[in-house]
Amino acid sequence: MRKKLIAANWKMHLVPGEARALIAALMADLGRETFTDREVLVAPAAILIPEVKDALKQSPIMLGAQNMFYEEKGAFTGEISPTMLAAYGVTHVIIGHSERRHIFGESDEMIGLKVRAALDHRMTPIMCVGETQEEHDSGRALEVVLRQMEGGLGSLSSDEAGGIVMAYEPVWAIGTGRTATPEQAESIHGAIRGAFNERFGHSPAQIVRILYGGSVNADNVDSLLSRPDIDGALVGGASLKADSFARIVRARTAK
Ligand code: PEP
Repeated sequence: MRKKLIAANWKMHLVPGEARALIAALMADLGRETFTDREVLVAPAAILIPEVKDALKQSPIMLGAQNMFYEEKGAFTGEISPTMLAAYGVTHVIIGHSERRHIFGESDEMIGLKVRAALDHRMTPIMCVGETQEEHDSGRALEVVLRQMEGGLGSLSSDEAGGIVMAYEPVWAIGTGRTATPEQAESIHGAIRGAFNERFGHSPAQIVRILYGGSVNADNVDSLLSRPDIDGALVGGASLKADSFARIVRARTAK
């Protein structure tokens, strides 16, 4: 049985005091609830990582990052290295988010290098894939997702593949209030698992977790997470309020 993963992507929001208050409210809301079937992660902006690490002391909530560069160190002004993130106890790194691909021009090749670097530094990459509105409308969603997977996962061994996290995030659903239906998402998630099976074998395909992202909220999370191939959620907007994110963390899932 795969544990669900509920991950918050705070994007470029919050200053340190707000981040601390949000973590405190989230911890108060979730109280002492212990979930055996799911994990929770927050990915703040990089500059907030020390503050959030401190605020998360005594909490089972894990610390993630939204991006990183693939080199260890050097003349890469403005970038943050895997070594730096690991030094702060970051366990997961979102890689290839559509905003990185489309606003900052990250290529499949660069995303592949970042996935490799995360694994080499013992962090779990959360690799995002997803088609644009135009690709969706022209029936190319699966083709795009499979191409992005090929670019991002080219260097992985079968042993490594099961340990990563995939996130299917249709670009047309991110921040738009338009969510993929559970049927649409399940169909792409099933195809991603099938591609893992073909490339890495049965066991990694059964273990790998595939999150859905794109306007997930307290009202739609139960129906999405009750699908067998949807192993959790990557949540943007709705993760910025403690009550809505806590409700998403408590999503009802299929047994
Ligand atoms: C995201 O940032 O990955 C995301 C899915 O955002 P939102 O939930 O706001 O659509």
